[in-house]
Amino acid sequence: MKAAFVTEPYKVAIRDIQDPVVGPGEVLIRVKATGICGSDLHLYKGVHAFRKLPAILGHEVAGEVAEVGSGVTRLKPGQPVTVLPQISCGQCTACSKGYFNICPRKTVPGTPAWQGTFAEYFIAREEAVYPLPAGVDYVAGSLAEPLAVAVHAARRAELKGRERVAVLGSGTIGLLVLALARHYGVKEIIATDAYDYNLGVARKMGATATINALREDVAAKVNEITAGEGVEAVIVAASAPGIIDQASTIAARRGTIALVAMISQAIPVMTYTFVYKELELKGSQTYTAADFEAALKLLAAGAVPVGEVVTKTVGFEDTARALEILDKRLEEAVKIVVTL
Ligand SMILES: [Zn+2]
Ligand SMILES: [Zn+2]
Repeated sequence: MKAAFVTEPYKVAIRDIQDPVVGPGEVLIRVKATGICGSDLHLYKGVHAFRKLPAILGHEVAGEVAEVGSGVTRLKPGQPVTVLPQISCGQCTACSKGYFNICPRKTVPGTPAWQGTFAEYFIAREEAVYPLPAGVDYVAGSLAEPLAVAVHAARRAELKGRERVAVLGSGTIGLLVLALARHYGVKEIIATDAYDYNLGVARKMGATATINALREDVAAKVNEITAGEGVEAVIVAASAPGIIDQASTIAARRGTIALVAMISQAIPVMTYTFVYKELELKGSQTYTAADFEAALKLLAAGAVPVGEVVTKTVGFEDTARALEILDKRLEEAVKIVVTL
């Protein structure tokens, strides 16, 4: 079968590899849609934290069950499915507490232990495979994974029941959090981004105010919009160096900041703001099965305008081009999904 590899930084090649053979308890999936994630761009640039080159891209996937291994009872060939691309060890302290997302021994695609999803076929263990609900097509199904990231971040920030929130960064994750905030009935939803195009998408998806973080003073504008109160929750889905200080400045007293952006270098933080306003800063890492199931329900309920987030679909042979478009921003785009 064919698979799309990043062979060296900024080089993508479609190579023929051995057809995967389904083992006991496993499901062979014919890939129909697979999304390009920010982490795929890290892999593309050769700077991913743990995925080493050469590696097959991708972990956001939807497809059709092609074959099931012995012992698989819940799924059958022909069924449309998506995959929770994370297998936790089930034995460590984190797993024993139900924090499967922060298991230090979890396995994810695009590593020697588990192939990436940019291939004609993909194998997953039965417990990681979820049938697509009726009305959720393959492209929408491939969005279940990033939506689960947003669901988890929204839980960490306790978005439900808030009056005013800010989403810093209107890329895929920020926009999906915004959709959730709207779904939960948050009254004031402020979105920021460096690109006017993304801010336009944010407004279409229900942001009540948008701020261009490059041209405008985010703190001053939030202050004005909230009459000096600040926002009760901030989701950080962008990685500018001053982003945590920006979040703490616009947060209301006793506010919560959920950090979902993966900022791998040290950045300075004014800690006094956290003391002064008794703020909480929480990390948000992937999702649990409950978050993933919630994401599928939200997709089935039409809570997320998939067409606003997935701004382009391309064929498998255009994978390299799609990565280049996102990396160099050759076109206005949010999420690009590769279809097979
Ligand atoms: Zn992703
Ligand atoms: Zn574990």
